[in-house]
Amino acid sequence: MKPTREGGFDLHGHTASTSTDKKEFWRRVDIVNMSPEQMVIDAKNAGLDGVAITDHDTVRGLDRALNAAAKEGVIVVPGVEITAHDKNLNFPHILCLGLDPDLMKGEDNKIPRFKNPETVIKWIHDHGAIAVATHPSQFGGKLRSNMTYDRVDELSDKDKTHFSKLFDAIQTHNIQHGKNEIASEIADKHGIPKIGGSDFHLHGQVGIVRTKIFQQVENWQGLIQAIREGKTEPFFQQNITEDMLGNFGKHGRGRIILQNLSSLLV
Ligand SMILES: [Zn+2]
Ligand SMILES: [Zn+2]
Repeated sequence: MKPTREGGFDLHGHTASTSTDKKEFWRRVDIVNMSPEQMVIDAKNAGLDGVAITDHDTVRGLDRALNAAAKEGVIVVPGVEITAHDKNLNFPHILCLGLDPDLMKGEDNKIPRFKNPETVIKWIHDHGAIAVATHPSQFGGKLRSNMTYDRVDELSDKDKTHFSKLFDAIQTHNIQHGKNEIASEIADKHGIPKIGGSDFHLHGQVGIVRTKIFQQVENWQGLIQAIREGKTEPFFQQNITEDMLGNFGKHGRGRIILQNLSSLLV
């Protein structure tokens, strides 16, 4: 992959620490082919300033990713993508960023999976991290992993929701949806920072969707602070090729992705 000078942070993605445990259904439904170390190397090669590791319902990969980050000179943001359980058998994902791995030693089984979103967001805040509404969509509902726009709106509304259960940021750009205009409107309405993350699963996808940070940051703690202060702007990597997305296509999501990103392809 050609390095770019675009920099920025890819704030959502998965490594094989998600899927190696075959006993746990929710960890193996995703097809992931990168180790945490490979993710860090890919981030460096893609010219990123940093990358978030947000595996499904596990923090098992954090130490490996952070060790690799120290070696490669890339910032790794420790996190986890938590599967909540909302109304109508909806299982929305909630992104947790800035989860201190030292707080999580031996705590992998305490991650609040399948709890209601309010409980999940509160848990994230109790651990000093930020809660991000990730890949929201109008299609929530039964057995889907997207939170509906209405729920994101509700959980972003300071008048309706206690602050400990409010989203700190909304992911408005990702591979699946391209630029999500409705998510962007919700963020604007409530004055919530917008972030971009690829939701990469495969080698070659790290850095397709990024977040520019309007401040020099030295480590993940500084990055989380900058997000809290709203110094963010999501953007797409400029040289996206069909090849990079074609990988995804093999796993059935490619058609939607190509539609959403067609104007950006080179
Ligand atoms: Zn997800
Ligand atoms: Zn994800």
